[in-house]
Amino acid sequence: MKTMIKQIRSVIVDVPIKRPHQFSTEIVSTKSFVVIQVELENGLIGIGEGTTPGIWWNGESVETMQLVIERYLKPLLINQDPRNIEQLLQLFDRHVRANPFAKATVEMALFDVVGKIYNAPVHQLLGGLFQEAIDVKWALATGDADGDIAEAKELVSSKQYRDFKIKAGKYQPIDDAKRAIKIAEGLNGISTIGIDPNGSWDKLTAVRWMERLNDAGVDFLEQPLSPLDFEGAAKLVSMKKVPVMADESVATIQDAQRLVQEKAADIFSLKIHKSGGMRNTLKIAAIAESAGLVCFGGTSLESSIGSAASIHAFGTIRNLTYGCESFGPPWLADDLVKNPLKFKEGKVIIPSGAGLGVELDETKIEKYRRKKERVTNGVF
Ligand SMILES: [Mg+2]
Repeated sequence: MKTMIKQIRSVIVDVPIKRPHQFSTEIVSTKSFVVIQVELENGLIGIGEGTTPGIWWNGESVETMQLVIERYLKPLLINQDPRNIEQLLQLFDRHVRANPFAKATVEMALFDVVGKIYNAPVHQLLGGLFQEAIDVKWALATGDADGDIAEAKELVSSKQYRDFKIKAGKYQPIDDAKRAIKIAEGLNGISTIGIDPNGSWDKLTAVRWMERLNDAGVDFLEQPLSPLDFEGAAKLVSMKKVPVMADESVATIQDAQRLVQEKAADIFSLKIHKSGGMRNTLKIAAIAESAGLVCFGGTSLESSIGSAASIHAFGTIRNLTYGCESFGPPWLADDLVKNPLKFKEGKVIIPSGAGLGVELDETKIEKYRRKKERVTNGVF
């Protein structure tokens, strides 16, 4: 069987979102993706998708990903056997520093096509499922605490979602803390709420509000401090109040090792893109497991392509006990596949078809293909 890589194609698409996002200078109403296809000599095609929360998150964007893939990763892949994934990842790292989102996009397509070679779902290539469906936490974003409480109660009563998280960082840390407490108290006994300030809080505020956040029942505090402030995170963990989740501060296996050594996290938020793919994500989960820590499945708000890859990996991790936030597909107004991921009673179901188990919809790619250059900070 001729399984060498013959060609790689990439395209940038802008997909509409259901709830337009107001930034200081513009209203963003789309999410951008780079979609790639890795084609083998025998005609099999693997698909991969790259997207970021925005270039502010780690310095990559769909435009940088496409450039890195087309100019630097593609030449390393042509005429290679896609089944040698770990070897290829090492090749990427030796030729291209950083750029984990671009590398993860290619790794995703490699796993998809290898799954198709063996007619096996990606999760079987990764060790087999530990859970077949994963709890999904929905992000509340109505703009005020009362609206968020009402939305959460509605979603719980209609059995769509059971647990929630809120983004913070737009206002002063004290206002974020008060809002989180109000929502947590409003949902007490009905649901749980975590808060994610994306590293925007200062240590003094976080320490002083920790006890009240805990008393209100806040379920987790995600990356409250700068990703570089390991000492501050360790202080928060040592208080043994609200569990502290690392997100921006845990991207590489070395980050994970340092967080463990410095006791600077209770929970790791895993994201396949920030860590350069599924293989690295599993390694990070293993470091967490070695220290008795648990994991949460994070998202960069992917379509059903990237979300499928994420949950294939998450589903194989035994210490992923905090659920996930892979709600990209229902958050988007449209999808890029013919068979979008299924969500049922607060869970996302891991596909069982070969490879990623999702089939690219070429008509959607054509429909949303970027027509002209545009400038955006991205969303979320
Ligand atoms: Mg986060």
